[in-house]
Amino acid sequence: MLDVNDLWVSYGGISAVRGIRVTVEPGSLVALIGSNGAGKSTTLNAIAGLTRPRSGTVTFRGENVTGWTTHNLVRAGLVLVPEGRMVAAPLSVRENLQQARYSKRLSSGEFTDRYDQAMTLFPVLGKRSSQVAGSLSGGEQQMLALARALLTGPDLLLLDEPSMGLAPVMVDAVFDAIRTIHTDGMTILLVEQNAELAMDLCDQAIVMQRGELITSGQPDDLLSDGSLRSMFLS
Ligand code: ATP
Repeated sequence: MLDVNDLWVSYGGISAVRGIRVTVEPGSLVALIGSNGAGKSTTLNAIAGLTRPRSGTVTFRGENVTGWTTHNLVRAGLVLVPEGRMVAAPLSVRENLQQARYSKRLSSGEFTDRYDQAMTLFPVLGKRSSQVAGSLSGGEQQMLALARALLTGPDLLLLDEPSMGLAPVMVDAVFDAIRTIHTDGMTILLVEQNAELAMDLCDQAIVMQRGELITSGQPDDLLSDGSLRSMFLS
C-alpha cells in the first residue's frame, strides 16, 4: 500500500529525517516510535504532503506521489489525522464532518451512510452533533478528527500522536476505536510517543532516533531485545 524509500527532510541546513524507509502492507498497522525530536512527525508530514522532502520517494498504491499536495493525496485515499487534531473549533461536530463531504465530493447519500457509520463507532459524537468542536474534550476532538478522516473513505490512515494530551481514560477510548478501525480492515501508519501503547496495537514497529531508522520488526521481537525495551518502555 505504501512504500517510502530513502526519505530525507531538512529544515534549513539541518536534516530532521535521514534516509528513512517505511513499508506498509494492505491491512496492517505499522507504528513509528522513538523519543522526542526523532523525526516521526516530520516523516508523516512528508508522506502526507505537508512538508516537501529533500529527496527520496513516496509510493502509494503503486503510484509515485512524492510532492503531491495534501488535497490530491486525500482524493487518492491517503489521509492524515495531524498532531493536535486540527478540528475547526467554531464549527459544530456535524459541520466538521461535512468538510469531508466537500473534500471528497460525496453525494448526500454517501455522506449520510458514512456519517451513520462514524456515529456508530463514536456514539459520543452523535450525542454532540450540534455542539461546537472547540467545546469538546480533547478525547472527543480526537474522535472527531478520526471520524472526519474516515468520512473521506481512506485506504491509508496516517495518525500523528493520537494520545497526545489526553486523560488516560480518553487514551483508552481513542485506542479502542483505532483497534476497531484496524480490525475492520483499515491500513494504518501510526506515530506514537507512547511506545507501550503503540507496541500493543501494531503488527510492525519502526524505531527512529535522531532522524534515522535504528531498527524495525514485529513488536514481540523488538520487546525481547533488552536494550530496546529499556530505551522505550517503562
Ligand atoms: P515529537 O514527538 O517531539 O513531535 P518527532 O519524533 O515527531 O518528535 P519531529 O517533530 O519530526 O520529531 O522533529 C524532528 C526534528 O526536526 C527536531 O529536531 C525538531 O526540532 C525539528 N523540527 C521539526 N519541525 C520543524 C520546523 N518546522 N522547523 C525547524 N525544525 C523543525
